[in-house]
Amino acid sequence: MTLIGGWQVLQWMGEAGPLLADGAVGTNLMSAGVDACDVIAANLKNPILVRALHDAYISSGAQLITTNTFGLRSAGKWGDAAERGLALAEASANLTSRNVGVLFSIMASHVQPEQGNIERILAAREDDAPLILLETCTDLRVVMAAVSTLKRVLPHAPLAITCHFKDDCTMLDGTHAAEAATELAQLGVQAVGVNCCDSLLAVINAVDRMHNATNLPVFAQPNAGLPTSASNGSLQWTLDPEGFAAAVAPLWRSGATVIGGCCGTRSEHISAAARSLQSLITH
Ligand SMILES: [Zn+2]
Repeated sequence: MTLIGGWQVLQWMGEAGPLLADGAVGTNLMSAGVDACDVIAANLKNPILVRALHDAYISSGAQLITTNTFGLRSAGKWGDAAERGLALAEASANLTSRNVGVLFSIMASHVQPEQGNIERILAAREDDAPLILLETCTDLRVVMAAVSTLKRVLPHAPLAITCHFKDDCTMLDGTHAAEAATELAQLGVQAVGVNCCDSLLAVINAVDRMHNATNLPVFAQPNAGLPTSASNGSLQWTLDPEGFAAAVAPLWRSGATVIGGCCGTRSEHISAAARSLQSLITH
């Protein structure tokens, strides 16, 4: 049994150098033929595909993998797919010979636990609750409302918040990265960070601002550049694995505690990042 809970993951972050997280989940499932509207439902309809993605990331060196639950809504049919999504990621983590943590991904704007699903899935978990990852946050007020709700209904669950920043280090609502880190730390979250963004430089700069504003662990999960549409309508991502891996050293110097990928990144990106990280740690 090598799956470790969210609190252990946080302790691990404090003891080890930057941890390597996985890359994108949704864009890879879509590349494999899953309809954009059906990504979370793939946990029920095509669990083998979801497991294969988790397994590929673990084989690439990822120490943290993310559930296929981004976009989860609290109501109705979404609950079963989300519960299965957590089980699939935990099953992959459990089959490894090394420690792997699971991040339970949700959108801040979809946190409505009074409707039951998130609360139902996680309420029974106390010390072994996964780290809840509110990602791609664009509006600090929405995040703060979500955090306060989650802390009320799931007081034992550790929370990590990653935000999308523009090139000037502000969120879409105008909040600066340093201010976001300070406000979130005051709310009592366990980690902050940056994901997606329009450029690697935006991620590196925002990580630096957050790291300087707080003592919390800082996630850095850039995307693989901006997508272009191919003639068949599929999205093509511009940043190749080596280009992605070149960001590992500056992210580390900026204070990133967790380094992984967002939209468009594949297991090849995480393999390349693992090599960069290894070379930094050993030199
Ligand atoms: Zn993204």
